[in-house]
Amino acid sequence: MQCEKCGKLNDVMRAKCVACSDVLTTSKAGVLSRLTNQRLAVYMLIFIAIVLGLYSGIYLLAMLVIFLITFWLRKYLLDPKTLHYAPTIAIQASLVIVTGTFFTLSILLNNSAFNALFVLIDIAFPVVCLFWLIEKRSLKPVLLLGIFQLIALTTHFIDIAQMDFASRGHRIYVNYAFWRIAALYFLWAAYSQSRTNNGKLSS
Ligand SMILES: [Zn+2]
Repeated sequence: MQCEKCGKLNDVMRAKCVACSDVLTTSKAGVLSRLTNQRLAVYMLIFIAIVLGLYSGIYLLAMLVIFLITFWLRKYLLDPKTLHYAPTIAIQASLVIVTGTFFTLSILLNNSAFNALFVLIDIAFPVVCLFWLIEKRSLKPVLLLGIFQLIALTTHFIDIAQMDFASRGHRIYVNYAFWRIAALYFLWAAYSQSRTNNGKLSS
C-alpha cells in the first residue's frame, strides 16, 4: 500500500514503509484503516483456513497451499500499483484452480452436463475479471467480481442450510463459503485502499 508520508508503494505484508520507515495502514488509528489492514487479515486467513481444513477435509488445505504460492509470487505477477489486490487475486486464483481440478475429476467420473456448465462459468468468469483488473485497474471488474462472489456465496448458504452438520457436503460448502467471504473481504479492503491512495482506479 502507499505510504502517506513519502508516497512510496509498499507491499501489503509490510508494517513499515521501505523508504522512510513510517508506520503503514494503522498509523491513522481509524476503524476503517484497522478493518482494511490486509497484513493482519492474511495471517487470520491462514489460521482459519487451517482450522477449517481440519473440519472440511485435509485435501481442501490445497486451497491454502495454492493461495500461499500465488500470493508469494505477487511481486513477479503484478504491477506495483496493483499489489494491494494480491490477496484477493491469490484467493480467487486458488478458488479457480481447485474448482477446475474438481471439474476435471467430475467430468471424468460422472459426465453431468449441468454441473459442467455451472462450474465452467465459475472458472471462466473470475479468470476474465482478474485479467481485466490486472490489465486496466478499472472499477468494473472489481464490481463484477464482487457481485459474482456474492451470488456464489448465496447459493452456498442455501446449500449449507439444507445439509446436516458434519455431512460431506456441509464440510465442503462451509470451506468454499469461507474462501468466498475472504475473497470479498480482500476485494473490498484493496478497493478502499486504492480509493485513499493516489493510485486511484480509473472509472
Ligand atoms: Zn514512506
